[in-house]
Amino acid sequence: MQMPTYMSKFTSILAFVAILSACGSPAEQTVDPSRANASSSAEPNKEISAAPSNANAVTPSSNAARSNDPVRDGAPTSTKETITLQPEVPEGTKQTTLQYTMNAAYRFEPIAGSEAAKKAVLLTFDDGPKDETTLKAMLDTLDKHHTKAIFFVNGYRVKAKPELLKLIASRGQTIGNHSWDHVDLKKEDEKTVRKQIGDVQQIVKKTTGLTPRFFRPPFGSGGDLVKKIAAESELLFMTWSNGSLDWDASTKDKPEKVIANVMEQLHPGANILMHELPWTKDALDNLLTQLKNKGYAFIDPATIDTTPTTKPAK
Ligand SMILES: [Zn+2]
Repeated sequence: MQMPTYMSKFTSILAFVAILSACGSPAEQTVDPSRANASSSAEPNKEISAAPSNANAVTPSSNAARSNDPVRDGAPTSTKETITLQPEVPEGTKQTTLQYTMNAAYRFEPIAGSEAAKKAVLLTFDDGPKDETTLKAMLDTLDKHHTKAIFFVNGYRVKAKPELLKLIASRGQTIGNHSWDHVDLKKEDEKTVRKQIGDVQQIVKKTTGLTPRFFRPPFGSGGDLVKKIAAESELLFMTWSNGSLDWDASTKDKPEKVIANVMEQLHPGANILMHELPWTKDALDNLLTQLKNKGYAFIDPATIDTTPTTKPAK
């Protein structure tokens, strides 16, 4: 009588697996964004504790794969048992699904067929890495909000503080190329532009093992030549669509002004320009909370399609 009992148990497990696989994405179904927003608007300065912050995340599939994902951790024991019946996907073969594309105005739109949120923003921080205290606090705030950003770095700063670049990389943030010397590339000849861009690609690769995929010219100043060289270097060229003016004297030591500037220009797909600065660091937690309260998600740079949509200028 042993065989039939064993077989019936095995059959019921198979049936359970079938039911589970028909259920779709658990992360999608268990998160209630309206509740997350309601709880955070009641206490804007406190961390959202009850509702998972990834209610606003735009990459549910990649979040589900992370070991610290609250939905997966909270899954019933029986689910874990069924998972062991299936072969684990090796870490190296996990692929990030592309969700967003950038338009000619440097704004982001969900890729056709993607379930990514239209109301989403990209966070970017230029001109680092500079200061360990400022940078660490910004990274902590991004972590608190389960958010990724692009740090557009200058080569001469990386050379001075390679450990800070490693820190950015180790926290899973994205590194972008912002030229070596922060010069106005529009005024430079081809050889100089190539060196200004190429040397940053090299030092980032040497320091972190990562190759930047994004490029932003200093001062947003880049003509056809700079665009062509960026494209040849397999870099997505962008300026921004929402300037926080955090670099300007009018916002110095005024985090509330940084927030007000961003919120005034807010639009779906916004490409938000900020810098590694103390008052931006002080603004960040409140800013991210306000963006969430407005129903905005944060675009993970890893989900942006960097394939050029048009041929670079000849
Ligand atoms: Zn800059």
